[in-house]
Amino acid sequence: MNIFDYLFKDVGVDLGTANSLIYLKKNGVVINEPTVVAVNSRTNQILATGEDAKKMINRAPSHINVIRPLKEGVISDFDMAAEILRQYLKKISSNSIFSYHRAVLAVPDNLTEVEKKSVEDAALSAGCAQAFLVDSPIAAALGAELPIHLPVASLIVDIGGGTTDIAVISLNGIVVSKTLKVAGDKFNEDIVRFIRDEFRLVIGEPTAEIAKISAASAVALNEHLEIKVSGRDVSTGLPREIIVKDFHLRAAISKSLKSISDSVHEVIEATPPELVGDMLMQGINLCGGGSLLKGIDKLIEKETGVSSRIIPDPLTCTVRGLGKIVEDFDYYKKVLNNPLGHSVQAQ
Ligand code: ADP
Ligand code: MG
Repeated sequence: MNIFDYLFKDVGVDLGTANSLIYLKKNGVVINEPTVVAVNSRTNQILATGEDAKKMINRAPSHINVIRPLKEGVISDFDMAAEILRQYLKKISSNSIFSYHRAVLAVPDNLTEVEKKSVEDAALSAGCAQAFLVDSPIAAALGAELPIHLPVASLIVDIGGGTTDIAVISLNGIVVSKTLKVAGDKFNEDIVRFIRDEFRLVIGEPTAEIAKISAASAVALNEHLEIKVSGRDVSTGLPREIIVKDFHLRAAISKSLKSISDSVHEVIEATPPELVGDMLMQGINLCGGGSLLKGIDKLIEKETGVSSRIIPDPLTCTVRGLGKIVEDFDYYKKVLNNPLGHSVQAQ
C-alpha cells in the first residue's frame, strides 16, 4: 500500500430508502445499517443513527423525531441524509488525517439534475473530495455478475424498501427501465391495513415487517407458516394478541405483488425483440431485500413465463457492484453517470 492509498480512501455508497451500505476499497462492505436517524427536536441533537435509531420507530416520546431521510429512493431530507453519510464515514475512518478521496454513489436511474446534485452535495458535505454517480440498476447488475458489457439483455429487478427498479441493460447502458413505488415498505403498509380491517387490530409498521419476514410468501408454500402478532384492539383500545397465517399475509400483499409482476411484464414488452431472446436464456435476476420474500421468484416466473432467480445475498448486491467499480475505477469509469465527477473545487 503506498502513502496515497493510506491517506485517501475510495468508497462505494448505496444510500437506500431502507438500508445504507458502504464499501471501502480494499476492505469490502464495512457499513450495513438502516437509513434512519433519531433527532432530539428540542436541541436538534442527533441521538442515534442506523440500527439504534430504527429501534426507536414508533416507540419514542414526542420530542424525539425518528427520521428516514430517503423517500422512494430519493433524498427528501438533505441535511439528515448528509448527516447519516457523515456519521458512517466517520465510523470507518481509523485516523484523523485519513480522508475520502472518491465516493461512487448509486442513484435511481430516473433522477432529475437537481436530485443528482443533491446526492453529490450530500457526499461532498460529508467529507468526500469527489462524488461520482452510477445508475443503481447498473451497480446491482455488476454485483449480480451479469455480463452487462455484452450486447445481450440482462434483466435486473431490485425490490428495495421504497421502490422496485426494473431495468434491461445491454452494452453498459440501460435500454428500458421502470421504477414503481411498490416494494418492501408497501408490503408492510398492506399488512397493517389488512390486520386492522380483518382483525380489528392496530399494529405498528415494525410488527408488520416482522410478520412479513417470518410468515409471508408470494405463492402458497408446502409448509404452513403463522405468527403471533400483538397490537391494540380497535374497539376496546386495549392490547390483544392474534395468530396471523401465511394466507392472510398473502392476501394482504397480493395487489402489490401483482403490480410488481405486471411492471416486469411491461418492461419485457417494451424491450426490443432482438434482446428479448437473450432474456429468455438468461432469465430474470431478482435482488434487494424485497426479493427475500418467500416464493417471489416463483410468482414472477409464473406471471412472465421467464425463469427467475434470486441473486445470492440480495441485500448487498448493489454495494458489491459499487465495490467492483471502486476497486477498478479506471476500467469501470465508462459505466458512470457523471464520469468527470463532481468535486469541491467545482462547486
Ligand atoms: P433499499 O435499497 O431501498 O434500502 P433494501 O434492498 O435494503 O432496500 O431492502 C429493504 C426491504 O427488504 C425492507 O422493506 C425489508 O422489510 C425487506 N426485507 C428484508 N429482509 C426480508 C425478508 N427476509 N423477507 C421479506 N422482506 C425482507
Ligand atoms: Mg437498494
